Amino acid sequence: MQPLPKKYTFSEIERKWQQKWEDMSIYHFDWNDTRRPVFSIDTPPPYPSGNFHMGNILNWTYFDIVARYKRMRGFNVLFPQGWDCHGLSIEIQVEKEQKIRKRDVPPDQFRKWCEQLIERYIALMKDSILKLGCSIDWTTEYRTMDPDYWRRTQLSFILLHKKGFMYQGTHPVNWCPRCETAIADAEVDYEKRQGALNYIRFPLEGTSEHLMIATSRPEFIPACVAVEVNPEDERFNKYIGKSIVVPVVNRTVKIIADEAVDPSFGTGVVMICTYGDKEDVKTVMKHKLPVIKLLTDNGRINENGGKYAGLTINQARKAIVEDLDAAGLLEKVEKLSQEVGVCDRCKAHVEILEHKQWFMKTRALTDEVEKTANEVVWYPDYMKTRLIDWAKSLDWDWVISRQRVFATPIPVWYCKNCGELILAEEAWVPIDPKLENPRVDKCPKCGSREFVPERDVFDTWMDSSITCAVHAGWPDREDWKRLFPADVHPSGIDIIRTWAYYLMVRHLALFGETPYKSCLINGMVLGSDGRKMSKSLKNYVAAPEVLGKYGSDATRQWAAGGGATGSDIPFRWPDVEYGRRFLVKLWNVSKFAINLLEGYAPSETVEFELQPLDKWILSKAEKLTQKVTEAMEKCQFNVAVEEIRNFTWHLFCDYYIEAVKDKLYNPDAYGQAKKLAAQYTLYEVLYRVLQLLAPMTPHLTEEIYQAMYAENKGFKSLQISPWPKYDSALEDEAVEKNGDLIMAIMSGVRQNKAENKLPLNAPVKTVDIYSGSLETANVINSVKEDIAGTLKIANVRVHPEKRSDGKQISPYDVSFQIEY
Ligand SMILES: [Zn+2]
Ligand SMILES: [Zn+2]
Repeated sequence: MQPLPKKYTFSEIERKWQQKWEDMSIYHFDWNDTRRPVFSIDTPPPYPSGNFHMGNILNWTYFDIVARYKRMRGFNVLFPQGWDCHGLSIEIQVEKEQKIRKRDVPPDQFRKWCEQLIERYIALMKDSILKLGCSIDWTTEYRTMDPDYWRRTQLSFILLHKKGFMYQGTHPVNWCPRCETAIADAEVDYEKRQGALNYIRFPLEGTSEHLMIATSRPEFIPACVAVEVNPEDERFNKYIGKSIVVPVVNRTVKIIADEAVDPSFGTGVVMICTYGDKEDVKTVMKHKLPVIKLLTDNGRINENGGKYAGLTINQARKAIVEDLDAAGLLEKVEKLSQEVGVCDRCKAHVEILEHKQWFMKTRALTDEVEKTANEVVWYPDYMKTRLIDWAKSLDWDWVISRQRVFATPIPVWYCKNCGELILAEEAWVPIDPKLENPRVDKCPKCGSREFVPERDVFDTWMDSSITCAVHAGWPDREDWKRLFPADVHPSGIDIIRTWAYYLMVRHLALFGETPYKSCLINGMVLGSDGRKMSKSLKNYVAAPEVLGKYGSDATRQWAAGGGATGSDIPFRWPDVEYGRRFLVKLWNVSKFAINLLEGYAPSETVEFELQPLDKWILSKAEKLTQKVTEAMEKCQFNVAVEEIRNFTWHLFCDYYIEAVKDKLYNPDAYGQAKKLAAQYTLYEVLYRVLQLLAPMTPHLTEEIYQAMYAENKGFKSLQISPWPKYDSALEDEAVEKNGDLIMAIMSGVRQNKAENKLPLNAPVKTVDIYSGSLETANVINSVKEDIAGTLKIANVRVHPEKRSDGKQISPYDVSFQIEY
């Protein structure tokens, strides 16, 4: 055994082990190992943002606890790390930094800037992941912007195209006019905004009457294609089929009937415009109404807006309201607080635009998604409904094309002459159709030799939704199915509707199989005030600050213990501080144990007999092992960490070590065999604590292991020592019950000293213990010398009778009288 340094310096210890583990390559997934079972973690590749926040700390701590635990369980663990590079936010950031718009510069230049920014961001995030001590196999690191990853995304598209899952269509899509690209439902955020409800008179054709329409989007009046009322609404149903004049543009449209109109909402008369909102999309499809496209891609009114052409949406709204007012058609304006869809990257108001796009047939898979989601194991279980509800709520298929620059190209061309689509062959990828022609002589349909490349690119989720297969080695390794489906897909509660969903539909479509066997969900990190953590609320704490101040092991305890898996957890400095205090306690008790173990040679087989208190703590340690193992299997990290901390701090340090230290300091009064039994117990129980803690606080436990155990136990790292097996033979209810009673008596005497303002080592003349039964008296008698030695009592007398005038030891029928 080697001594530990006087002071626990987390920064030195953590840096040292992070480096040594890397050198030992214990995180390395061994592709050639056929002996150990495999366990694969589908680490979600993050968007590099340059900012590793406390939410990320929570994510990666979860991933890493699972990885380390499974390694100790004997699995060959694959814990990969990739980076999901093609984010829209990167384009926006580059535009800001370079003070340009992406279309102003050659695409090559723009891409290069994006790549440089990504590398800067990755370096910052990687630094935090390393400092957190994540046991990632860095030989697996990948970037979705690399051509090698393009190849996989493009190949998956080609295969799905051949299977009939990919199609092009002109369809209304969510459109960000600021980013000038289609975006998916999952990229639309909802914000409360202040708007206005305008009451506008629509004249009935050929009469002096009018119908009143209340709308928050008068700028869409030029795109009005119908007016609808509820057929049951007696105020208006007489007008169904008649024509009504659209103000400002002076066209007429028909009044149609639809049961979906709520007569009590607004005025009960609704204008249908293409497209003011998603309801308009449904109505237009249902009634086969014409479409008037009103907006340009950058959010201006086009030529269909007549005199308003060229105005922005806001300018058009203002101009139209003024014109309505001047024409005497504006009845009144009311304030309106409304939820509007905004782009989750740039917060611009999302419009609905008809555009030719690529789609993946995802809604056809909804039943399959539901069935599969029910078969997957969810931690916690109720999270599966989030995925199922989301899948069922989708109104249209997944728009997979984007009008962007920094993304994986869609590998198709069109014949310039006849428009025939030419899909890349599987062997051609990676390929950028804008830089290369298809490898065919001529159009298979018309023979033309001229081709036009697809200029649209893939949604970034097309890259990141095949990770379960990619991590497993698809498509290059023949044995990739060995690691597929992934054993666990860990994910944040906020991205179930994207990550968990897209992974599911893509892998189901590609391979007809679930991508993951289980899904581990973490909640959000809240500020200490219980609100969402954000810089604007001034409750934001940056991860590097926490890691710098308290180190990884304390921070990981906060993440593991902050709350039930899947629930939101607040960040509170005192929680991290508590974690640090526990580590200091463990450090100090280990140093103390090294003293008490002086002369102990664990490898020697010497005869000793375990005493009641030894058996007591050993039995408790077995119970702890069982509870922690169960909690780890269910990913209940908070339960595991609490159980270990309570056991270590209270049962082991406060009681057991206190109770045996006299025996270890003054063995002559007890005999060598009893001393050895206590040393054995102390040594093995501390080892058990280190092992159970190893997945949560890997650094400190390794440091102690190396000083005290490595030589004897023989594993080069605690991280690859086998997880302790729960041994029910060592668990003994009677022994525990008796031990609990002894501990209660000792703490009763200690408390009495404290009440008398005496130090804990103050000598006591006599203690008379009235045990209430002969049986109990025998139990107490068997450890009489421990009680006497620990509490410095000259004379302990145990009586079988019961007395009620002494100090009671509740909840037992035992009392004592003390004489100092
Ligand atoms: Zn945007
Ligand atoms: Zn052709």
